[in-house]
This record gives sequence, C-alpha cells and structure tokens, in this order.
Amino acid sequence: MCPPTKNDKGLSLYIHVPFCAAKCPYCAFASARARAGDEVLYLESLEREITSRLPNKFFFHPWGERKIYERGSGGLVPRRGLGWSPKVLTLYIGGGTPSVLSLVSWNALIRIIEREFSFSENAEVTVEANPGSLTREHIKLWRDWRVTRISVGVQSFDDRRLKFLGRVHDAAQSRVAVALCMDAAFSVSLDLMFGLPEETPRDWMTDLKTALSFGTNHISVYQLTIEEGTPLARQNPSLPEGYAQYRYAQWRLARAGLEQYEVASFAQPGQECRHNLNYWADGEYIGLGPSACGYINGTRWMNAPRLDDYAAMTLRGLPAISEERLEGERAARQAAVLALRTTKGITWKNFANQYGVPAANAIRRDLERFPRDIVANGAEASRLTPKGFRLGNAVWSEII
Ligand code: SF4
Repeated sequence: MCPPTKNDKGLSLYIHVPFCAAKCPYCAFASARARAGDEVLYLESLEREITSRLPNKFFFHPWGERKIYERGSGGLVPRRGLGWSPKVLTLYIGGGTPSVLSLVSWNALIRIIEREFSFSENAEVTVEANPGSLTREHIKLWRDWRVTRISVGVQSFDDRRLKFLGRVHDAAQSRVAVALCMDAAFSVSLDLMFGLPEETPRDWMTDLKTALSFGTNHISVYQLTIEEGTPLARQNPSLPEGYAQYRYAQWRLARAGLEQYEVASFAQPGQECRHNLNYWADGEYIGLGPSACGYINGTRWMNAPRLDDYAAMTLRGLPAISEERLEGERAARQAAVLALRTTKGITWKNFANQYGVPAANAIRRDLERFPRDIVANGAEASRLTPKGFRLGNAVWSEII
C-alpha cells in the first residue's frame, strides 16, 4: 500500500508497458514480444496492482471531487497528509513500446486508468510510441482521450543506422509517424541516438537536421552504450567516444530554439517534460507495471521485471522485488545527483531547507573540487556546465 505522500499538490504516475515488436540488440530494458494472452495477463495484473497499491477507496464527493480513504482503527478514514485525493498532474505511459498494444487493450487500459484516477485539468499525459507500430487509430484514440504528448522513438532517419540498431522500423516509417503526431497537434518529442560505429560527423548532422525539420518542440539525444548481457555486448563493437557529437547537438539544437534543460533533453521554452522534471526535482511518483519504480514518502521500490513474475506477485499482493528507504545525507546525495542532471542544478537555499545544512555543505564541498569548466559553483547554486553534462557520470559517482 502507498503510504501517505508528502506531495499534496498532485500525483505523478508512470505506467510501464512491457511489450515490444522485437528486441533491439542494445536494449537492457524490461520488454519482450507479447505472447498470445500476454496483453490480457498484463492488464489484469496491472488492475490488481492498482487495487493493492491504492486500496483506496476513491469515493466521489458530492461536488465531483474524489477523496482517498484508508483503513484506520475506526474503519475507513481520509488518508493522512493528502486531504483530497491527489489528482494526476502527469501521467507517463512508457515501455517497452506502448504503441504495440492492440486498440482493444488500449481501450481497456484507458478504462482502468479512468476508473482509478482523476486528472487535473491541465494534466500532462505522455505516451511513448515507435514508428512501425504507431497507427492513425492509436493517434485518434489518444487524441479523443487525454494524451497531450507523444514521445517517438525515432533513433535515426537513416536506414543504415536503423539497421545497425536492429530497429524494426525504417526511415520512411519514422517520417510518417512524426508527421502523424504533428498533424494531430500533439506536443511531440523525438528520441535520437548517436555514437554508432563508424559514425561520421555528417551522419549525425543529417539526423539532427532532419529531426529539426519537423518542428517538434522537444528532442532527446542518447549515446549508444553497451549494456551487459545484451546481444550488442556479445558483438562488442568499437563505438566512438561521442564527445563531439554531444557538443554538436548542444550547439545545433540551441540554435534551433530547443534549449537544453537536462543532460539528454532539449525543449522549446515551456515545453519541458513536466513528468521528468518531477523525477529530477526528487518528487514523488507512483510506478505501475512490470519493472516500474515508485518513490513515495522517502521509500523507493521496484517491481518485478518479468511479466510472469509480476503477474504472479500481484495475485499475492504487491509486485515489488526491492524497496529501500532513503534518509539523511544519502537521500540528499541522491537528490543532488538528480538535480545536477538539469541545467537549473542545485539551488542551495532550497536544498539546505529540504535536506539540512550539514548535508548541503558536504555536497557543496565535493562539487567545489571539480574544475570550473565542469561544475559552475556559485553562492546561490551549483550546476554542471555544458561540457560538464558530457562528464556527468564522473561527477555523480563522486557525489554518491
Ligand atoms: S523498442 Fe525500445 S524498449 Fe523495445 S527493445 Fe527496442 S530499445 Fe528496448
């Protein structure tokens, strides 16, 4: 069961869809091709998880508000610390590939979500989709529902590069998918990947230029890395260092009006992903579905990654395979790492208020050891420099 949350402003919700059309050779995420019956198994299990995590009882208030109740000594009592039930401020349906879910399953998923949660008026609702599985019917369904953003896993607009990445779509399908989302007036984000073997500057410049030609208000760029246990790790290809590609993306995207606001994320002002901003601000969220993580009231949990295990666990109770409570300086250091992912960095006054002066001072001392071209330390805030973002891992491992 979710303990009372400290955030009474609203709820951030993540739902993981664990299916993909095929497994990309570099991918270490919890996803697999759906077997017959898997979508039903997933939806039924998800419903059970929601029931166990929110044993609520959402009751309709006479004025249409809903309130969460929990079992107290005197029966059902309003959940402490929340007051009125938190409305969903941000919902992110990720994966895996949510667009591989059939329309029947999507309709069922929407019914479950609508029955269990209420949404704030300007809720941000993001769905991840991949070219190849995204259809006009998905777009229409999402448009008619409450989806506001689509994050399209394009990765490249070059067939040769897509083939190396083992993606099931081609460049033509990427173009169609992005155009469909734009035509439907969604807020659209594109994912692009750099750092492929034998990548030339021209390859990366062309991908960025093509991506920008669609006029989306958000682009995320990721470097291809070799994850242990993946087919790519067994091939062990030689990958470029990637520094030049990353720095070029910072320059090129800014020139096109997409400002960097996080290590991998660039957006037009005001179009930043609010759901992800909540993660980086050390905000609370509920994660549902196989492999989903949640963080409420200082406790982080992670669900079983395999669908069969997840489903079996939801029959007995909660499907979490790990749970840890973060307190004191450890919690502060985790929060510092999250904040340093963003261009805003750490605002020391707020940070000290939230995590205590001793923890803030200890982290500040650690950051002051880095050269100025990596970490910009000021009286009010510390943040990574554009060059520092490229070396973020080194900074974070020093702080943690
Ligand atoms: S589509 Fe995404 S989640 Fe699915 S296998 Fe490929 S990289 Fe992994």
